[in-house]
Amino acid sequence: MSYVGRFAPTPSGPLHFGSLVSALASYLDARANKGRWLVRIEDLDPPRTAPGSIDAILSCLHTFGLHWDGDVMLQSERQSAYLNALEILQSQKLIYACSCSRAQFQSNPQYLCTCLAHPPADKITAMRIALPQQEITVGDVILGPQTQQLALDVGDFVVQRKDRLFAYQLAVVVDDAAQGITHIVRGSDLYDQTPRQVWLQQCLGFPQPVYAHIPIIINNHGQKLSKQNLAQPLNLAHAPSLLSEALERLGQATPCNFRQAPVTEQLAWAVEQWDISAVPPRMQDPMAFV
Ligand code: GLU
Repeated sequence: MSYVGRFAPTPSGPLHFGSLVSALASYLDARANKGRWLVRIEDLDPPRTAPGSIDAILSCLHTFGLHWDGDVMLQSERQSAYLNALEILQSQKLIYACSCSRAQFQSNPQYLCTCLAHPPADKITAMRIALPQQEITVGDVILGPQTQQLALDVGDFVVQRKDRLFAYQLAVVVDDAAQGITHIVRGSDLYDQTPRQVWLQQCLGFPQPVYAHIPIIINNHGQKLSKQNLAQPLNLAHAPSLLSEALERLGQATPCNFRQAPVTEQLAWAVEQWDISAVPPRMQDPMAFV
């Protein structure tokens, strides 16, 4: 089978150590399987795109030797593909206009939205997908299978926001299919969102990729490293030692004196030795220096 993997960062700031670990895991899994590795910039939400961050992310990947295949896909240029998918869902009567706020849903798990039965009068509303009372089970190479009853566990979710921006769930599924992605290796913070994406793939007639969710890196407060939690940008002057640290976090036993080896040497070795079964399901230690 031909393998196509991807790294899909949101350009809300420069890459941090957690994003390096995700990029590295998806790169190694693709290259070890003689596959292609693509980069997609998830700049779906223009106000969240930090100026200069797209160039910074791409040049950071090059510094770490993580060279991708083909052109970089930008979600900001994919509006017509998302609209097309929305229309397919609409033609199957799977989506409905909803004027309820996110706060209404979040404040009460039992909140009953009546917009499906009684369409709102407002012209500008979000669009939600109507979910069936049915279980969905999705396998995962690292974390094992999970089953969700989407209607109960998640509830009808938004595919297009009230401000007309398409939701991540819809865009990610449309783009993974358009790029022919066969394997998705990404952070475990997205593990419980995967059944939603598989459901959308089924509605849109797209193939289901193989999923592997790697442990997320946490800071000293037990929080996921993220731009919101002020994770430090990667210090490019320390690329070799950061790459070694990332390999160790992924359970790949690195040779002694590896930390100063050039990134190209480290990556060549890591592609040869890559063992996805050695990736720990959870990260034990916080990242001290971030
Ligand atoms: N854009 C998402 C992020 O930066 C990743 C989405 C995905 O890998 O499906 O966290």
